[in-house]
Amino acid sequence: MTSAPVPKYRRVLLKLSGESLAGGEGFGISLPAIDRLTEEVREVHEAGVALGLVVGGGNIVRGAVAAEGGMERVSADYMGMLATVINALAIQDMLEKKGVENRVLTAIRMEQLAEPYIRRRALRHLEKGRVVLFAGGTGNPYFSTDTAAVLRAIEMEAELIIKATKVDGVHSADPLHDPTAELIPEISYLEVMTRELKVMDITAISLCKDNRLPVVVLNIQRRGAVLAAALGDRVGTLISGEVES
Ligand code: UDP
Repeated sequence: MTSAPVPKYRRVLLKLSGESLAGGEGFGISLPAIDRLTEEVREVHEAGVALGLVVGGGNIVRGAVAAEGGMERVSADYMGMLATVINALAIQDMLEKKGVENRVLTAIRMEQLAEPYIRRRALRHLEKGRVVLFAGGTGNPYFSTDTAAVLRAIEMEAELIIKATKVDGVHSADPLHDPTAELIPEISYLEVMTRELKVMDITAISLCKDNRLPVVVLNIQRRGAVLAAALGDRVGTLISGEVES
């Protein structure tokens, strides 16, 4: 009998973009897409990894885009933060159906539907084996859910942050538009910043750098990729302080 592999990372923060919940439509919520995403979450949870989740809201509202259209930026950003709560509730529902115990914690209080984010409480949920969904971003306008993900990962003392994307990792150029783009298996925080590679915004990546939090960027469409990253297998791109030459 072979025993299950021991995960390299005991506590991981997974960042899902709002877009990944939209399925093919690029907008709104696709239940089949959430069904698939939550399968990945269930696998990682079952492997014994303590898992926090930050979900974006770009499938519903992006503050900067709404502001370009004429809305006041701060109101638009609050709409974006509320969008992340809608997404978190959809994920929560699907996780519950799969028997994965979880809690939604919001950065903006809305206690009729979720607990407020309190760091010690979140840690306790993780210790009890619950998946914690951090909703509402940082609770502040002008920030992104990538920054929220890094912030919560640091607060939860996560050992790794997994950024789920539509492509296989960090590339030398945009692989969706440039056929010469090459996958970079390992890269330093500094290089991501200086080469202005569009992985995370600068606030998020510099927060990773300051706190030496490794990031794996992977393709969420590849079945089992999230579990593989949590186990410590080579998948996607690893962003860290040290790069093997
Ligand atoms: N947002 C914000 N503060 C935060 C996190 C998010 O104001 O701490 C707003 C911002 O308007 C953003 C929107 O919520 O555009 C949705 O988040 P994001 O764009 O990061 O989602 P994703 O691209 O991951 O789907």
